[in-house]
Amino acid sequence: MLFLVILVLIPLTPSPNVNGIAPRNQLHVPTVLPESHVSSQQPIRLIYRLSLNQSSADAGLVPVTISFAPSYSSTSFTMSPVGGWYDPIEVRDFTVMDSKGAELRFQYRREASNQQSWTITMNEVSNITVHYTVYLRYFDPKTGAGGAYLGYLGSTFLLSGAGWIFLHPEGYSGSFEALFDLPPGWTAAVPWNRAGAGYVWSIGSDFPRSVVGLGTFRTTTVSLAGSNLTVAVHSAFSSSDSAQILAFTQKAFPYVADLFGGSPLPSYVSVWVPKPNGNRIDFIETYNGAGEAIDGFGMNMMYSFLHRLVHTFNGFQPTGMGSQSDSERWFVEGCDVYYDSKIPYMFGYQHDLNWLIDYLRDYDGYYGTQSDGAVSTTEPFSDRVLTLAYGKGSLVCFMLDSLIMRTTGGMRSLAGIMRRMYHQYGNYHGYYSTNDIQQIASEVSGFDMSKFFKLYIWGTSKLPVVFSMPSGVDVDWNQMQSDIGSIPGQPVTISQETTSSRTEVTREQSAMLSSTYVSQTQSSFGSTSAVSTSVTKATTPSLPFIDIVTIAGALVIVAISLLIIRKRKAKRA
Ligand SMILES: [Zn+2]
Repeated sequence: MLFLVILVLIPLTPSPNVNGIAPRNQLHVPTVLPESHVSSQQPIRLIYRLSLNQSSADAGLVPVTISFAPSYSSTSFTMSPVGGWYDPIEVRDFTVMDSKGAELRFQYRREASNQQSWTITMNEVSNITVHYTVYLRYFDPKTGAGGAYLGYLGSTFLLSGAGWIFLHPEGYSGSFEALFDLPPGWTAAVPWNRAGAGYVWSIGSDFPRSVVGLGTFRTTTVSLAGSNLTVAVHSAFSSSDSAQILAFTQKAFPYVADLFGGSPLPSYVSVWVPKPNGNRIDFIETYNGAGEAIDGFGMNMMYSFLHRLVHTFNGFQPTGMGSQSDSERWFVEGCDVYYDSKIPYMFGYQHDLNWLIDYLRDYDGYYGTQSDGAVSTTEPFSDRVLTLAYGKGSLVCFMLDSLIMRTTGGMRSLAGIMRRMYHQYGNYHGYYSTNDIQQIASEVSGFDMSKFFKLYIWGTSKLPVVFSMPSGVDVDWNQMQSDIGSIPGQPVTISQETTSSRTEVTREQSAMLSSTYVSQTQSSFGSTSAVSTSVTKATTPSLPFIDIVTIAGALVIVAISLLIIRKRKAKRA
């Protein structure tokens, strides 16, 4: 039986009851960064140049040159990796020079926590050039089941978070320019603004895990739901896999955006590479893009794309939503995991609700044992919490979806809650509680949800979910009604597209793969004016510096969510 493990990071919200959750002792957050924004008013004082040739790619070595002109005079300053987990990455041949080419002294430190830093003696130097090489093949055996690479450079691609390869001048949060010199046939896929020969963005909270994809890609950009979706698929994948990846992402992106009432993103970048030596590459995910190593098109690929994209709306800063405590993890992760199975099923890519069936089988196994508990648990992260918030949480979200469809005659669903929640709390406007979700669920469904929440979310009553065709799982309405009282309406099943309609889309997309193109297709998914207002706030933050630091300091706590999913059967792909 195949086991899949995917790690997805969600920034937690400030709360006196919340602690950062670290999967390993090495986790630390050395630098607090504000949200990214790009200001054309400021001069660009930081330039990264990544220069790859074929032999350095073959050797896994990433040569980087940094040009930096601090805006303040100082006798010394420090460069270091940012964001945590970057310590094991090996940085070789670090040298630093002034503008005349004279070498400057520096002190290398490696803390007990393994955090590395290079403190450079400035001696009234106004700008410096730093050279170093990153050996980008660090394999962490403790990440998930079987381990994962933390960034990877191979003969035909590089996939990394920006924080793995670009050292950060401490205290600097302005704009940077990234330039890529690449072997013939390689292109870059990054979620930053194209500017001249390179890309411009700013050092912000998204920077460490910002996707950097370089390689022999088939890259396609289309305008969907008001965003430019760029999908870079490595050339090693078959044309069939490439076509299906493209078709699925282009179908799922506007669906997910619509689920939350519209996309707040100017652009989103999705990068797909083959697994190096059969291993995953982990942690490359932010609000505006993600990258993953996969075997090809299938449930794992669909899960990976959907899970990260849903977190753009319900978790990741700055576009997501903030919850008041760990108690709401069932909503953040459970509902995300539910959609990861529901959407491929609705689109006809899966015969049934797939992994939800495994979660139900698991639940039947641990119900009533010490492993069971309320999905709203506030316990520190553990396998038990993983089971409750993710697995059992997805079953509860399925029940909620089914209940709303029933009480509204199929006119509304869990999507109604998502849309209302995002309208109210999206782009980190305030912090919601499970009570807030309950109130919105009651309003959306027109049904008093207090008993439902009391029994299944705050309590440990047996979930009324059973194995049933055609979707694989169904609500046991008799049990639910004996639990919470009479429920109006009749059961409404999740509608599913036929396989033949999916094939049509795939064939159409296949024809698009011959070259990169940009379509200005207008989306049918409009945003509400209120959401548009939020977008403006999110993309052009103008907070005073002290506010940025205060808020960023509070928001930087990172939770690691380890999701172990048992894959039950062969993929349809
Ligand atoms: Zn997640």
